[in-house]
Amino acid sequence: MNDQNTSTRPWHLRVDAAAAVDPAGHIVAPATLLVRFDHAPPASPIDPAPFACRVLSPHHADALPPAAARLDRRGHLLLPGLINAHTHLDLTHLGPAPQARGDFPAFLNLVRASRATDPADIARSVRLGIRLSLAAGVAAVGDIAGSVRGSPELTPLHTLASSPLAGVSFLEFFAIGTREQAAVDALHAACQSLPPARRIRVGLQPHAPYSVGLAGYLASAELADRHNLPQATHLAESPAEQEFIAHATGPHRHLLESLGLWNDTLARSIASGRSPVQHLRAWLDRPSRSPRLLVHLNQLSDDDLAQVATSGSTAVYCPRSSDYFLAHESFGPHRYRDLLARGVPVALGTDSILNLPDQALGHALSILDEMRFLHARDRTDPMTLLRMGTLHGTACLGLPESAVRLIDPKGADSRPLGVIAVRITPGDDPLQSVLQRTESPEFLCIGNSYA
Ligand SMILES: [Zn+2]
Repeated sequence: MNDQNTSTRPWHLRVDAAAAVDPAGHIVAPATLLVRFDHAPPASPIDPAPFACRVLSPHHADALPPAAARLDRRGHLLLPGLINAHTHLDLTHLGPAPQARGDFPAFLNLVRASRATDPADIARSVRLGIRLSLAAGVAAVGDIAGSVRGSPELTPLHTLASSPLAGVSFLEFFAIGTREQAAVDALHAACQSLPPARRIRVGLQPHAPYSVGLAGYLASAELADRHNLPQATHLAESPAEQEFIAHATGPHRHLLESLGLWNDTLARSIASGRSPVQHLRAWLDRPSRSPRLLVHLNQLSDDDLAQVATSGSTAVYCPRSSDYFLAHESFGPHRYRDLLARGVPVALGTDSILNLPDQALGHALSILDEMRFLHARDRTDPMTLLRMGTLHGTACLGLPESAVRLIDPKGADSRPLGVIAVRITPGDDPLQSVLQRTESPEFLCIGNSYA
C-alpha cells in the first residue's frame, strides 16, 4: 500500500483473490475485496485503521470506479482475522520448552523459575507475542496476564492496548489455603480502579482449581458480574490436577505445603473423589451475565460434559498444548466434538509458546496451525475448524459475530476486525487447501474496534 492520498476522504483498496469465505458459511469464488478506509490509508497492513469492506464477484467489481490501490492475490483465499482465545503472551520470551514435554509439574516449575517479573521485561515479551500473533493472522486474543507479585498484573493490558490486536487481558490470580482471603481482598482492590474497555478489555482469570479455592472462584464470579468482566480458568488439564482435587495428594499438595499455603479448610474442600469440573459446580451453576471460558477440559466424563453444557460457558481447546502434555494418554481423545454436538462453543487457543513446536515467525503462535493440526489428526470438517478459529471465540471475548463476518450475502458492507489472505492450491477446495498447505497468513487490513 502507499500513501498517495492522506486526505480525510475515504480511500479504497481492491484485492483480487481466488475465493473468500467466512464462518457463516458464505463463499465467493473468485472474489474481489473492496476495502474502504474511513480516513487515510495505513502505512502498512498491520497499522490499525478503521475500514469497511465488501466482497463481490470480479465481474461486479469491474463496474465500479477504480480503487486507489490494487493487490493481486488470485492464488489466495481471503478469510477474517483469526481469534486466539487462550494464550500467555508474557511468556513468549521463554520460547518453546521441549524439555518439559509430558511433565506438567516440571513445566509449572520452569515457568515459576524463569518468567519475566520486571514490568519492562514483561512488556517486551508481550510485544514479541503481539508480533508473532500478527504474523500468524490473529486479530484478537484472550491473553492471560500472569500474576508475578501476588497481585493482578496490568502491564500486558497496557501493552496490548497500544497494539492492533483486540480481545481480553485476563488478570490472573492465585487464592488458595492460607492466602485465599488476602488474595481475594487484593483482587477486590484491583477491580476498584480498572481502566475502561477499549480494543482490549479486562477479564479475570482464577488460575486453576489447584491454585484457587472455591471461595476464590465465587469471589471472582461476584466481581465479574459487578464490573461486567469475562472470566477464564484452566480446568481439567492434567492428571496432577485430577489427583489433587479427588484425593488431596500429589505434586500440587507438595507445592502448597512447601509454600506454607496448605490448611485444614482447603483439606476439607477437596479429596471427596470429585472431578475438577464437579469440584467447581457451584461456580459453574452460578448464573452469570458475563462470559466464562473453560480452558483445556482434557479430563471430561459424561457427567462433566453435561455440567459444562448446562453452564453456558465457552470451552477453549488448545490442541497442540494438550498433545504436548500427552493428555490423551491419561484421559483419551479430547471430546471437543462431543462438546460441539451438545451446543457448547469450542474456541481454539495456542496456550503459551512453551507448549508449541519451535517454528518460524508466522507459525509460532498460530491458530491456523492449530486448525491444521486437528484437520490432519482428526479429519475435522474445514468449516467447523474455521468456526472454532473465529466465530466461537467472539462472544467469550465480548465481541459481536460481525467481528469475524467478511461476506454479506446481500452485498452490504462488513466490518471484521481484520482480513487475511492465505495461499491455496489452484483447483482444490479453497478452505481444504488452506488446511493442507503450510504457508502462514498475510494481513491485508486490521483495525476495527468493538469496545
Ligand atoms: Zn494457559
